[in-house]
Amino acid sequence: MLKQERYRHFVDYFSKNQPDAVTELHYGSPFQLLIAVILSAQCTDKRINQVTPALFERFPTPAALAASTVDEVFNFIRSVSYPNNKAKHLVGMAKMLADVFNSEVPADIDQLQKLPGVGRKTANVIASVVYDASAIAVDTHVFRVANRIGLTTNARTPLAVEKQLVEYLPKDTLAIAHHWLILHGRYICVARSPKCKICPLTSFCKYYARNNTETALLKAEALKAKKAKDAKKKKSLDKISKELKKRSVG
Ligand code: SF4
Repeated sequence: MLKQERYRHFVDYFSKNQPDAVTELHYGSPFQLLIAVILSAQCTDKRINQVTPALFERFPTPAALAASTVDEVFNFIRSVSYPNNKAKHLVGMAKMLADVFNSEVPADIDQLQKLPGVGRKTANVIASVVYDASAIAVDTHVFRVANRIGLTTNARTPLAVEKQLVEYLPKDTLAIAHHWLILHGRYICVARSPKCKICPLTSFCKYYARNNTETALLKAEALKAKKAKDAKKKKSLDKISKELKKRSVG
């Protein structure tokens, strides 16, 4: 199947079945989303949603968070992964927002990446979710699922995946495709054993086609070997029976 066809099936399926896919992180403002996305690195959205209500209440603005200490923030986020680093990033990010960006979350991807704790992935999430930019953030789910389906080829880095997705996906689907891939990766095309039996994408998934061709070939080989073994056994039994007949006649 041509790559373009795969993209067409992918967009068709999700446009029809998940036209309103959104992030599972809870937030009420760009500033809160920025905090949640920084915290979500290598952690589950579920866990982040457990800690953010108290954090948002205590630090409603960049100025409030900037005036806090790393130790205080740490106490709010101790149950998430890498709480030390993330607490430092949050306070640093808030200080820069307050001092440099007039307490507004910037829309520009390069400016976003100047904020502590904000890499390309986080910047793309903010740009696409908050500012509706044609950008796609590549996290571990997007990376894996795009590769398995065959939307990307030989893309070994998140940036390479991002470039291929940007090249082939219609511009107006880039932002939502991020959520399609994440949700699919979180619930069906999971990392260790993808749930292909219940997956609706099998008709155009490269991984599925490859594995099922291999399985079919293995089954055919096993059947062939069994038939050969049975034929050999039958031949030998026929020979014995002929021999016995000969003897009884003699
Ligand atoms: S068929 Fe399997 S590998 Fe392909 S997208 Fe679905 S779950 Fe993932």
